[in-house]
Amino acid sequence: MKSEIDHLESKIHWGMVVDLDRCTGCEACVVACRAENNVPTAGEDQAARGRAIHWLRVERYWEGEFPEARVRFRPVLCQQCEAAPCEPVCPTFASYHNPEGLNAQVYNRCIGTRYCANACPYTVRFFNFYNPVWDKPLHLQLNPDVSVREVGVMEKCTFCVQRIKAAEIQAKAEKRELKDGEFNPACVQTCPPKALIFGNLNDPESEVSKLARSNRATVLLGELNTRPNVTYLERGSWSGEEGGPASAG
Ligand code: SF4
Repeated sequence: MKSEIDHLESKIHWGMVVDLDRCTGCEACVVACRAENNVPTAGEDQAARGRAIHWLRVERYWEGEFPEARVRFRPVLCQQCEAAPCEPVCPTFASYHNPEGLNAQVYNRCIGTRYCANACPYTVRFFNFYNPVWDKPLHLQLNPDVSVREVGVMEKCTFCVQRIKAAEIQAKAEKRELKDGEFNPACVQTCPPKALIFGNLNDPESEVSKLARSNRATVLLGELNTRPNVTYLERGSWSGEEGGPASAG
């Protein structure tokens, strides 16, 4: 409850909107996330044992019946829940809610019990079952702003918190407020059709807060009352003909 009070008082409450009408399933966001956050690639053996790590995945599903069936895509990342089930179960407070609405993860507090991953209904937390290796020269691609997580540590998306902090420090040095759209997480920056929108939900004029109030807005597994800070804009209903949705709302 304390964390909720913190960011009600804070000027900033980070959130994201995912417009499902725009997502083409290209997975550029997935690649950008891996590159930005030093996410290791599992080899064939580890992947076969269910140990692949994807902070962001694009789920594919079908709507309609043949011959009107259409493939749909839904990017799924940490939902940065306000009532996050992963937080109260962590015995070391490695998973906690920060004053800006992020579900943060402190790697060097994590002792690897994996309670948080078991509690998360979105399966967006990943355990390092092995020490990641980047064969030369791939080690040169590692982002120096992000730590490489070792075996025994849980990891996840934090809306590229390293970019958030860099922008906040820059704005503070220049004695000004952060501007809407001044920076973005890697996935948002990369998405070609701009299906991902990031910003401050506490700013009523920000693009993300306007979209989050749209009549297409919905949340994943809303019945669990986890109160995510990621909002999905549902697709309009389709007429079955090529050319776009029949209605947007
Ligand atoms: S980059 Fe954008 S369009 Fe491509 S899969 Fe990700 S969200 Fe969808």
